Amino acid sequence: SFHLSIRHVSKTYANGVQALNNVSLDIPPGMFGLLGPNGAGKSTLMRTLATLQEPDEGEIFLGNIDVVNQKEELRKTLGYLPQEFGVYPKASAEELLDHFAVMKGIMNRTVRREVTENLLKQTNLWDKRKQKLGGYSGGMRQRFGVAVALLNNPRLLIVDEPTAGLDPAERVRFLNLLSELGENSVVILSTHIVEDVSELCTNMAIINKGQILLEAQTSEAVAAL
Ligand code: ADP
Ligand code: ADP
Repeated sequence: SFHLSIRHVSKTYANGVQALNNVSLDIPPGMFGLLGPNGAGKSTLMRTLATLQEPDEGEIFLGNIDVVNQKEELRKTLGYLPQEFGVYPKASAEELLDHFAVMKGIMNRTVRREVTENLLKQTNLWDKRKQKLGGYSGGMRQRFGVAVALLNNPRLLIVDEPTAGLDPAERVRFLNLLSELGENSVVILSTHIVEDVSELCTNMAIINKGQILLEAQTSEAVAAL
């Protein structure tokens, strides 16, 4: 069936730091939490899944798609929300989302208007759509990032340390938004905050020093922490 399968993935940077050491995970559709301290290798794994860098060893499959060797195939069905979502401050949310939609290949203007309207409503930005992104709060920028990441209806959504810069109210709003995403895609949430995982994720893993220490259902794992 449709799983994200990470098999024996290793990565050592040019400076000799081994960021990933024989990482294997089998991730079903739904919310999956990757929990670990700073420097554990989370971003390296997230960037590898997002086809932004390649592992030295190992293989990764999303269903039948070979993530390392079929990057273009994967990108059609990938959503990636990086740690800090950079935006053009002078554009409005509406303008920039429309622009990203064109870049993702949604060429029909009517379709595009419908897709972007739905996403701006889903991310609670519809009332602020005409406002320049430079005036957005951190939480609003993160939610805009989700709207962009969801444009192509991804089957794999990578969310890297999303709550780091958010105040408590924004954090709750952001986590609620993620929790509404369907069970038809694999959503990986990387974080160093236990509550992000325990509140949202059905399954989880703990990573430290590039190695997976535990892979379990969150209810079991959190009881043991
Ligand atoms: P995390 O996201 O869990 O904080 P990272 O994947 O960013 O972990 O980093 C894992 C380790 O790899 C850290 O020791 C970090 O300093 C190192 N590292 C990350 N990126 C690079 C890079 N581009 N070049 C060299 N070392 C890196
Ligand atoms: P993160 O919270 O993702 O671990 P870092 O502060 O470790 O962020 O890294 C920020 C950027 O610097 C990333 O692009 C990462 O690849 C790069 N980086 C991190 N550690 C190193 C390192 N030791 N040498 C070179 N680049 C690094």
